[in-house]
Amino acid sequence: MKLTGIRQMDMMEVPEPTLIQDHDVKIKMKVVGVCGSDIHYYLTGRIGSQVVQYPFPVGHEGAGIVVATGRAVTRVRPGDRIAIEPAMPCWECDQCKAGRHHTCRKLKFLGCPGQADGCLVEYIVMPETSCIPVEPKLSLDEAAISEPLAIGVYAVKKSIPMPGARIGILGSGPIGMSVMLAAKADGCTRVYMTDRLQGRLQCVKKAGADWIGNIDTEDVTHAILQQEPLMLDAIFECCGKQEALDQGIEVLKPGGKLVIVGIPEFDHWRIPADVARRKEITFQNIRRQVDCTEPALHYMASGKINVSLMATHRFAFEDTDKAFELVSGFKDGVMKAMIDFE
Ligand SMILES: [Zn+2]
Ligand SMILES: [Zn+2]
Repeated sequence: MKLTGIRQMDMMEVPEPTLIQDHDVKIKMKVVGVCGSDIHYYLTGRIGSQVVQYPFPVGHEGAGIVVATGRAVTRVRPGDRIAIEPAMPCWECDQCKAGRHHTCRKLKFLGCPGQADGCLVEYIVMPETSCIPVEPKLSLDEAAISEPLAIGVYAVKKSIPMPGARIGILGSGPIGMSVMLAAKADGCTRVYMTDRLQGRLQCVKKAGADWIGNIDTEDVTHAILQQEPLMLDAIFECCGKQEALDQGIEVLKPGGKLVIVGIPEFDHWRIPADVARRKEITFQNIRRQVDCTEPALHYMASGKINVSLMATHRFAFEDTDKAFELVSGFKDGVMKAMIDFE
């Protein structure tokens, strides 16, 4: 299933991929989640400097079943159900050696233009380091959702200690929800969440947010400050909107941490120099995640995190374009749409 133009997608017949390297694994895809970043490519053909060359298959939130393995593969066997870790680092550069393989100098990321084709395809070949076996008690949906959830787990890890923390999450889509679930699992005391989509706000409330506010119908910073006169310990910007960053800085306490997870459609954030300096705010950008897929799977397997409210819609593989239309229009209260291969 390839992007063939702006807001265009076509199903194409392609040769079945084969094992090339000794560490390769051939996977039969079972389910793929539609990510906000896939939608950026669908609607605009690019994210920042990353530009789609058509035709191009996107998709990176996948789970499947191993069907064949190269001779050096030890981590998985045919028949294993796996979560796919979409990052394929070189493991040799300075970043990889420093444990920062998510910013690898030669990173290949699934469904990222110029790097690797995505997993909206029946069969895919990936290195075994990208194949994470999942426990029998986890569903393939949970395996696929481990990808966005891992970003939430990582963002929380890069923020502040959660026990006793009072935080704000601005943007209540799947990533905001993932941050909330990870923060709560780590003992966060109180989570304030905002959005403009009422359906998403209700969804995150049901999933555990303590307070929700719709930016279109109420003064959310005023409402938060009334309840939290000392202000919040950390803010997670999860929608890529300037007004969210502005609101975050307003409700963040001195010494607080502003974690930027959202992907903006513009090129520069505006930071109010005076208040950011007076409050001595720390800005932490988040680039996807590193080493958090397995922790995300463990959180789900142990029952500490329940993602059952995340997948709100399902589509057959041949209807992938309908899923992309639905998600890009934020229609029908969609949180995340899942693509099923059979
Ligand atoms: Zn994603
Ligand atoms: Zn590297």
